[in-house]
Amino acid sequence: MASATPTSGGGEGAPTPPPPPPSLFDRLFGRRSALAGAAAAAAGVGGAATPGRAAAAAASGPKGPLPANDAEWKAALTPEAYRVLRKAGTERPGTSPLDKEKRAGAFTCAGCGSSLFDASAKFNSGTGWPSFFQPLPGAVEEDVDRSIPFMTRTEVHCAVCKGHLGHVFPDGPRPTGLRYCMNGVALGFEPKAA
Ligand SMILES: [Zn+2]
Repeated sequence: MASATPTSGGGEGAPTPPPPPPSLFDRLFGRRSALAGAAAAAAGVGGAATPGRAAAAAASGPKGPLPANDAEWKAALTPEAYRVLRKAGTERPGTSPLDKEKRAGAFTCAGCGSSLFDASAKFNSGTGWPSFFQPLPGAVEEDVDRSIPFMTRTEVHCAVCKGHLGHVFPDGPRPTGLRYCMNGVALGFEPKAA
């Protein structure tokens, strides 16, 4: 009866999903930009802050010091995020709450906080993984993945921290016809400020 399935990181019976990794950037950048926006709005003056539009349009977010080596990455991420982002793992489909996320905003890299996808590019693929028809410009990079015999896939990773995000397939909806099939645990979400 002891089923020692060698698949993913166990925890099948664990009722609590791992919390999203507390990204340093989420805390620094997310909070600060929200604060700056609120302060600017309240004060009604431009001040020294850059226009929010610049940040929103930029493909990537803040680039503070990234973990320098594997041990630091392991310490910085949840075990599941580490397994996916740094070891090119795949999360079990249907396990990410971000698959159901429908608000406006930006999907970010759970590794470094960079913005990767605008919520307007998200669609329901029915796969159980958050899916998008296009990334923000320059936000992701692609590689050939031949890890499955006789099957060539296109791997997708963050352009900033190189963390593995998922794969892209040519069976997506218009306008691009692409399906960026992402591991939700590799993503964060920043709702658009009201
Ligand atoms: Zn990243």
